Amino acid sequence: MPGVIAFIGLGSNLQNPISQLQRAKIALTTLSQSELIATSNVFGSRPMGPQDQPDFANAVAAIRTELSPADLLTQLQEIEFSQGRVRKKDQWGPRTLDLDLLAYGDLVMTTERLTLPHPGAHLRDFVLVPWCSIAPEAEIPGKGKVCDLAKRCMSHGLVLLDAVP
Ligand code: AMP
Repeated sequence: MPGVIAFIGLGSNLQNPISQLQRAKIALTTLSQSELIATSNVFGSRPMGPQDQPDFANAVAAIRTELSPADLLTQLQEIEFSQGRVRKKDQWGPRTLDLDLLAYGDLVMTTERLTLPHPGAHLRDFVLVPWCSIAPEAEIPGKGKVCDLAKRCMSHGLVLLDAVP
């Protein structure tokens, strides 16, 4: 199948986060014009921002897609809402499911809805460690190799929660 490789960051810290991510991985197989290529283990991490909220479960998925970045984001947001996501102004608050489009090929772009690559991706161990594990050669345009960035970024106390069979 032709298309572009895109990476998606999954996060949850409400209503059984590990099963939220398992459901989300299944939902990613239903994206139109796309195929799921790989999903990482699930890692636990301390929250960013307010600390009076549960720890997060995080994972990264790789897909091959023929969707445009905007259409892909729309479908990712539909999955978030189908799993009870309530969008609040609080950027760092708790959530049942967060799906971030980390990178779409080597595309660099900024629109009102979408910044690519994701502006926080190169700083977060809970993104970089699982990403490196499924795509050791991946690079974040303008930032460097994912696996190199994973060694240098700030720690959020990652622990392995659920290994992919
Ligand atoms: P969040 O609270 O992380 O779900 O933020 C979602 C908001 O960020 C949405 O309104 C998106 O339009 C916007 N956004 C910008 N760039 C991205 C990206 N690369 N991936 C996901 N959401 C993005």
